[in-house]
Amino acid sequence: MMTATSSTPTLGTAMAADRIRHVTLSSVTLPLDVPVSDAKVLTGRQKPMTEIVFLFAEITTDEGRHGTGFSYSKRAGGPAQYAHAKEVAQNLLGQDPSDIGRVYDMLLWAGASVGRSGVATQALAAVDVALWDLKARRAGLPLAKLLGSYRDAVRTYNTSGGFLHAPVEEVKARAAESLASGIGGIKIKVGQPDMREDLRRLAAVREHLGEDVPLMVDANQQWDRHSALRFGRAVEEVGLVWIEEPLDAYDAEGHARLADALDTPIATGEMLSSVRDLIRLIDLRACDVLQPDVPRAGGITPYLKVAALADHAGLQVAPHFVMEIHVHLAAAHPRESWVEHIEWLSPLFDERLTIEDGRMRVPERPGLGLSVADEAAAWCLDAVEFRAPGG
Ligand SMILES: [Mg+2]
Repeated sequence: MMTATSSTPTLGTAMAADRIRHVTLSSVTLPLDVPVSDAKVLTGRQKPMTEIVFLFAEITTDEGRHGTGFSYSKRAGGPAQYAHAKEVAQNLLGQDPSDIGRVYDMLLWAGASVGRSGVATQALAAVDVALWDLKARRAGLPLAKLLGSYRDAVRTYNTSGGFLHAPVEEVKARAAESLASGIGGIKIKVGQPDMREDLRRLAAVREHLGEDVPLMVDANQQWDRHSALRFGRAVEEVGLVWIEEPLDAYDAEGHARLADALDTPIATGEMLSSVRDLIRLIDLRACDVLQPDVPRAGGITPYLKVAALADHAGLQVAPHFVMEIHVHLAAAHPRESWVEHIEWLSPLFDERLTIEDGRMRVPERPGLGLSVADEAAAWCLDAVEFRAPGG
């Protein structure tokens, strides 16, 4: 029995624990080769996307261990993520980086007045991913193996060739290129103001690729409930893998009714930025395929909670964007699903993911298996360092 004089170490003071000595945060703006438009642009709600803003966190310990993580924002939020991370990062110094949940909670409480969603937790996501990267590197394992992997490669589909700024002939050509490169499925964007144009593009792509190629569509939230149902009924025979974001991202009830009414699976979840919002989709059975996003939902730690609940409820989990992180998580999901292939982040890293036979291989390197490319320094707008005393 423990006594008041026991020398049992308590959390945070365990002997021989490695400690966080040094944290670097940086804000990186990556330009895109071509301005990108989905249905939100065609309905006039957003402008074409020309760049993505990243928050990078690099953590170093007393023993010289490293971890690198990042979060991102599209169109707005990048400076706010960076500002919030700078406010709370000092708390990391001296902490044991292995205690990820405790460290995450500590950062949440440090920024409690700005809440547990959106920019506040997206800022923490960069740190959280860095801590998981560090932990897997320390173990000498790819992150997927640290989490517990079900497969060495994950089915992958291409999205980047199917946006609405591209004429249908270009979409068809890019889809054929993707399949020739080993990618296993194709997603095209829909949700234009004229639904007949969506149906024409879809029919043209299906005819070009043939009946056997797995095909998804993504409306990026631009239909109302009636339009979504009408589209869903019109394409029931097309055999789509899923219809993605048919409705407003927060209309969980509408998604649930649609999922009940259609045989084609419904996918959503990429826009939601908190565990609570994602759990609501699960509780209401609002979709067949849940699409959480590690940086957007606050990091790997909250993502794992959501993914476990989704699997328990019988849903597939097909993460959104950032294949560089998500290939590891998708490998660790019991139900096999899909990883989204969008190559926009490639200039930031030295390594390339291997794709063959319709699948993306999980890197065998420790951690995420990523190293930031020297060229990325050219896109770095600002950086700040935090050091432990004497560090
Ligand atoms: Mg989407």
